[in-house]
Amino acid sequence: MNQKRVALVTGANKGIGLAIARGLAEQGLTVLVGSRSLDNGVAAADEIGPDAHAIQLDVTDASSIAAAAARIVREFGRLDVLINNAGISHAGRPGMSFPEIMQTNSLASASLADVRTVWETNVFGLIAVTQAMLPLLRQSDAGRIVTIGSSGGSMGENAKPDNAHRTMYGNYSSSKSAAHAATLAFALTLEPTNIKVNIACPGHTGTALNNFSGARTPEQGARRAIELALIGQDGPTGTFSDENGPVAW
Ligand code: NAP
Repeated sequence: MNQKRVALVTGANKGIGLAIARGLAEQGLTVLVGSRSLDNGVAAADEIGPDAHAIQLDVTDASSIAAAAARIVREFGRLDVLINNAGISHAGRPGMSFPEIMQTNSLASASLADVRTVWETNVFGLIAVTQAMLPLLRQSDAGRIVTIGSSGGSMGENAKPDNAHRTMYGNYSSSKSAAHAATLAFALTLEPTNIKVNIACPGHTGTALNNFSGARTPEQGARRAIELALIGQDGPTGTFSDENGPVAW
């Protein structure tokens, strides 16, 4: 069995996931760099260093998830931290214009196929990966699950008439609301165990997800998730927060 704590980060080949993986490796963990393209995962793991290992993981593919779980058992013998980071902002196909992408974000005009594509990754993928990794996390004496959520998916904030950003609340944001709800459900179910489950909001971070429009760096976006991955047994569970404190559900 690996002597160091082992963390799996989904979608860790770039963006906030890569920064989380790097940060956890710097804290002395063995990090599994989940990536749907193994080549991209290998490049990211090489960049992080010897404590990082690429693992093929497409969160929408049941056989990929099962193979990843089996490999973690076989090669590392433990899993202490799961970061549910993989996400997509739209079902856009290459070459789509911005207005076309916005159309797929409005639940009033999006095709159900486009809605499903986003929810398959952001919601069902999160549930499937968490279920697959739970047997390993239950064996850890300090299992931690962190979902990368979004204040843009806060139903409380979007219900406020004076919220200027609420017109953006659509397919992506509602999928993040559902991801928050699913994460809370895991937290409540796992309350009697050693596993703590929390949601970290990275803030508006410049990544491929938003065409690099965010002001924060991936390293800044990763900070709260890294803190929650490393909390002690006296730490919280079932919370939603960013670096400044609680975020409205
Ligand atoms: P990003 O740079 O586009 O990274 C997204 C990652 O998810 C990539 O590694 C991508 O892999 C991966 N991914 C997508 N679909 C996948 C699948 N089916 N299976 C496995 N991996 C998959 O975006 P990011 O901003 O870092 O996003 C990370 C998380 O932060 C997301 O959950 C997002 O909702 C959340 N978030 C971001 C912001 C922000 O401002 N950026 C704000 C709030 C929340 P590929 O390289 O193969 O596409």
